[in-house]
Amino acid sequence: MDAKERFLKYVSFGTNSDEESDSCPSTPSQLELGGFIADELRAIGLRSVRLDGDGYVYGFLPGAGKLAGAPAVGFISHMDTSPSSPGDGIRPSEITYEGGDILLADGRTSITAEDFPELAGLVGERLIVTDGRTLLGSDDKAGIAEIVTACELLTRVTDRRPVAVAFTPDEEIGRGADRFDVRGFGADEAYTVDGGAIGEIEYENFNAAGFSLSVTGTNIHPGYAKGLMKNAVLMANEFLSMLPPAERPEHTEGREGFYHITSISGDESSCTVKGIIRDHDRAGFEARKKTVEGVCRYLDGKYGAGRFDLTLTDSYFNMKEMILPRMHLIRDAEAAFEKEGVTPVIKPVRGGTDGARLSFMGLPCPNLSAGGLGFHSRREFIPVSSLGRMTNVIVNIATAAPSGD
Ligand SMILES: [Zn+2]
Repeated sequence: MDAKERFLKYVSFGTNSDEESDSCPSTPSQLELGGFIADELRAIGLRSVRLDGDGYVYGFLPGAGKLAGAPAVGFISHMDTSPSSPGDGIRPSEITYEGGDILLADGRTSITAEDFPELAGLVGERLIVTDGRTLLGSDDKAGIAEIVTACELLTRVTDRRPVAVAFTPDEEIGRGADRFDVRGFGADEAYTVDGGAIGEIEYENFNAAGFSLSVTGTNIHPGYAKGLMKNAVLMANEFLSMLPPAERPEHTEGREGFYHITSISGDESSCTVKGIIRDHDRAGFEARKKTVEGVCRYLDGKYGAGRFDLTLTDSYFNMKEMILPRMHLIRDAEAAFEKEGVTPVIKPVRGGTDGARLSFMGLPCPNLSAGGLGFHSRREFIPVSSLGRMTNVIVNIATAAPSGD
């Protein structure tokens, strides 16, 4: 079976994850897909295939020939799709892109050349699109289809490195690495195959923290409030106004960090402000956290102790520091893309990846493109050729000896 057929099978499972759920996986459909993939891996001939109780699927393909004794390499992708768009009842269709905007079957949703400059390079290509009602799920079922198909191809080659694969639940709600069995995985280094136009290699991501600030006011009848009222709404507003306005997502790019307010709720008595802090540079990241803490201390001093109660939690760190000692991972991936005729593009991620968390759990894990575009939206699509080419890139990595560092 080729990667496209597999991909179309996988997207018939609606697997949106659910942030509101405390179970793992967060939605039962992920277990169904996991069971389906585990059966496929067994049929292909992988060893030690298991779907564990948390919905993680693992499998192992022993090395062969001259590369049988080489270090194992891992490939990982995620089974859930983003809850930010509908993900059930996906009706994919294959079209030939003839230039201009693509009007989807719902008659209303368009993939526009303006929003997707990548389309310029895809005239004449076959694309898989949605009908405009749901997301497509190429994030990250394209990754799964490419890895599983590569495994099938690898069973037929004479020389290959041992290959460990894993498919995780709940990446889109930030839990994909939570219960990953790093020890039992079977490889000491791996790649996530997740997201992005073909050719992308990512090993720098944000350092990330989230905060929740609870602001306590004093609510008094407004007719009798003189000298007494402390309005939590205005106190929260004062906090917001003290964060540097130029350092917001809408004013930053590349490796620049930011403060981002994600929600504010409350009334005169109490307000809750939630936000996130991002920075590629670790020192810059620590400085940003200090700034938020400093502002709260200042306002506490102004309004009275305990009125600005801040909880600040680290989410993940820039994997770069874990990858730098293993730069062969990047060089080997570049060589694998070049062998497939794809120019590799290395760029910093303005976000995080499960690979970043795995890198700090002892499994260095840069990210490779899976080939899709327009993630998390009804306009998500993937060029058919990317599925086949990424499959080959994975085969190329597993059939070459790892270079030295
Ligand atoms: Zn993804």
